[in-house]
Amino acid sequence: MTAADQHGRTETLLALAWAHSARFLVTASQLRELPEPGLPEIAFVGRSNAGKSSAINALAQHKRLAFASKTPGRTQHMNLFEVGPAQAPDALWVDLPGYGFAAVEREAKWRWQAVVADYLAERDALAGLVMLVDARHGFTALDRQLLGYIWPRVGSGEVRLLALLTKADKISRRDAQRALTAAQHVLAEVATDHSDIGVTLFSAVSGQGLDDVAVTLRSWTSTPST
Ligand code: GDP
Repeated sequence: MTAADQHGRTETLLALAWAHSARFLVTASQLRELPEPGLPEIAFVGRSNAGKSSAINALAQHKRLAFASKTPGRTQHMNLFEVGPAQAPDALWVDLPGYGFAAVEREAKWRWQAVVADYLAERDALAGLVMLVDARHGFTALDRQLLGYIWPRVGSGEVRLLALLTKADKISRRDAQRALTAAQHVLAEVATDHSDIGVTLFSAVSGQGLDDVAVTLRSWTSTPST
């Protein structure tokens, strides 16, 4: 093993341990119920059923961490998790409500849009956004609409973006490669010189992409010491 490999391995282990430390902090239904902005926030967003809860649970190596968001009555809430050392957390993960449920009635849809759009546009602490997209479907019209809410801040480099093409275990390698290329094209349309945008195949079942995602998210929290 070369020194570079060793360094990479150490960084991965540190990132996985960091992600594993995620613990539930608080639920909020409106922006004003969120804690005072302080720690850098990493928000997770995606269509209902895209695999957001499974991804959060896989990253945290915890079967039911992102379970609160599935509880009836709480699906429209933001659920916050603290990450890092118990006495000195260094980031918050924010599980934003899923969108695009065909059955969601109009009013709930507007509520969702207001909460999520405001969070994405206004929350100063937002450092990075993880967007979950089902690898089999790619970016839908709703996903693109969501990108619109966050785009000014991603374009300026203020907020980083990582798209996870989820459930990669469900498709062939060839289709996975196609999905990746298609997503890269969508994101390239909106990239600027300042933006920090990534896209990766991910599977909560096989663990594909897990190490890299943990390393990326940890790197967003500041400059982690290794
Ligand atoms: P959410 O609504 O975005 O939180 O989606 P969930 O995490 O609840 O996942 C929706 C469905 O997809 C569930 O039945 C999961 O078991 C399944 N799922 C999620 N991630 C994966 C994955 O990586 N591979 C496979 N095969 N199924 C997955």
